[in-house]
Amino acid sequence: MNNASIPTTMRAAVLHGKGDLRVQDWPVPEPGQFEVLIKVMACAICGSDPTVVNRGWQALPPYGTFVPGHEYSGQIVAVGPGVPDLKVGDRVAIESHKGCGFCKNCKRGRYTICMNYGNRDAGHRHYGFTTNGGYAWYAVNHISTVYKIPDNLSYEEAALITTTACVHFALDNIGGLLGGETVAVLGPGPIGIMAVQLVKALGATKVILTGTREARLKVGQQVGADIIVDVNREDPVQVVMRETDGVGADIVIECSGGATALQQSVDMVMRGGRISLIGDSHEPSTVQLRKFVLSDMSAAGVRGEGMGDCARSLALFKAGKLTAKPLITHCFSLEDINEGFDTFINRKGGAVKVIIKPNQI
Ligand SMILES: [Zn+2]
Ligand SMILES: [Zn+2]
Repeated sequence: MNNASIPTTMRAAVLHGKGDLRVQDWPVPEPGQFEVLIKVMACAICGSDPTVVNRGWQALPPYGTFVPGHEYSGQIVAVGPGVPDLKVGDRVAIESHKGCGFCKNCKRGRYTICMNYGNRDAGHRHYGFTTNGGYAWYAVNHISTVYKIPDNLSYEEAALITTTACVHFALDNIGGLLGGETVAVLGPGPIGIMAVQLVKALGATKVILTGTREARLKVGQQVGADIIVDVNREDPVQVVMRETDGVGADIVIECSGGATALQQSVDMVMRGGRISLIGDSHEPSTVQLRKFVLSDMSAAGVRGEGMGDCARSLALFKAGKLTAKPLITHCFSLEDINEGFDTFINRKGGAVKVIIKPNQI
């Protein structure tokens, strides 16, 4: 690095134990070969962050050495050797997964399920999970995880790029979406709300969003849901069947992770329909598989935002077909990150997406 304006010490949120996130002085990392140094302008709290911080994660670095945060954007301030197409000053967002590049899955382009997960020596990186991430003034990223962002996208919105790309990738995994299809989205969290927008942008004509929180359902309606269903008042399966003349939805996107959601998905998807499972359920769930098997249904999970889908998502943002603004409800400085987590976890003030802004004091 040769930029005199980059300090050697910064502030970073370092994980010292379960639930023990401390903002402290920390060395500014240096970009190695094919890496860039990013001045982090926005880092969104993801639903998986409280798990990382409070419960731990596979291949989590030792306590006292690790900076979490994986949904971030910022400006490139230095480039390492060998970087061909990114330069100082570029506005960028990142995806969190970098595969090893040579395992069975990486060779097939499926780097988010790299067989060398967590193995740094093998070249794998999962920023904010097994490698330091974006709750800091600066972060280093491999160029395979970095995307230039369009001028019409703010850093705050760009921090949500993986929220969109994850849904894109989930659709890839069920064979895509055809124009004119009907989609049911279960769970109006950030992913569910973004799923509503994305399937609309891709040509879905009727989108039904189900959930329990009225404020979030309203946001879903604001961004394009044709029908919202408060599951405390109405049976979502009945509503979907009614709205599809008894046929069922072409696609169900399950974003809630709820115990009964998988059964509901099977009950509301049409014969031959596709079910995308995005919700990260921590509990086992029971499902009657007979209908699934005998109706030629298919289902697929999703790990992160693979297939370079961040680029396709950014193209839709650039074209004005998606917006992240209605999802962003709160912003906090890095020094107040624990208040940000509390706001996010306990959904204080109707929190949906909470953004940490490391370079805003
Ligand atoms: Zn995330
Ligand atoms: Zn791999």
